[in-house]
Amino acid sequence: MAEQYAPWNAMAKNIAYGAWAIAVLIVIGHIIRLATMNDAKAKYDFINRSEIMTLWVASIILIIGCCFFANSNVTELSALWIFVRVFTTVSMGMIVALIVQNLLKFYYPFYIEKRLKVLRYRPRISPKTGKPMKLLSEDEEDAYLDEGMQAEENVFSVDYDVWKDLETGYVKIEKYSGHLHAIQCPECNYQTFKIVKEEILKQPSATEEGELMKHYQCGYCGYKAKKNVTLKMSQKFEETTTAATA
Ligand SMILES: [Zn+2]
Repeated sequence: MAEQYAPWNAMAKNIAYGAWAIAVLIVIGHIIRLATMNDAKAKYDFINRSEIMTLWVASIILIIGCCFFANSNVTELSALWIFVRVFTTVSMGMIVALIVQNLLKFYYPFYIEKRLKVLRYRPRISPKTGKPMKLLSEDEEDAYLDEGMQAEENVFSVDYDVWKDLETGYVKIEKYSGHLHAIQCPECNYQTFKIVKEEILKQPSATEEGELMKHYQCGYCGYKAKKNVTLKMSQKFEETTTAATA
C-alpha cells in the first residue's frame, strides 16, 4: 500500500532539497557580494541595508524545505492523517520561523553592530598615495562639510565622517544616517533603539546656539526617551573655514 505514495514522497524530498539549495545559494551569494566589495563604506551600507532581510528570506525557504522533508515519508493517508500532518507541519514551521525571526531581530543586530563598527573605523586608503588616511575629529571635519551637510548633521541625525590624506589633501566624505541605524535600548538592552522624530526647539543664529529635541523609541519594548542637543551657532562654518585656510 505504501508504494502508492512513493511519487509524492519522492517529489516532497526533491522540493526539500531544492529549497535547501536555494537557501544556501542565497546566503553564499550574499557572502560573495560582500567579499568582492573593496570599499569599507560600501560593505557597511550593504550589511546595514540587506543582511538581516537576506538571512530572513533564506531561513523561510529553508524552513519550507524542512516542512516538505518532514512529509516525504508518507505510508498511510486518510482525511484525519492529512489534517494532522498539515496542522503539525504548519504549526512547527511557524514556531521555528518565529524563533528565527526573533533571533534575527533582537540578537543578530549585536553581531552586525560589531562588524559595522569595525568597517566604519577601518582606515580608508587614499587613492592618490595608497596609504591610510586620517579620520578627522568633529571639530576638524567642519571645514570640509558645507553648510547643508552641517545642518544635516545637526538636525537629521546624520553623521559625516571625513577622511583626509594628509600628504595630498585628498578628502573622502562618508554619510551615516541615524534613522537607518538602531542603538542599544537603555531599558531592554536590545539593539532596537531608534530616532523616530526630531524637532528644532530653537533655531541657531549667528550669535546664539540652538536647541534640538531628539525623540527615541525602542522597537522591542516601546521604551521612549528624549535627548536635548545643542545646535552650533550658524556662523561656525565661516570661522573654521577661515581658520583652516589661514
Ligand atoms: Zn527596549
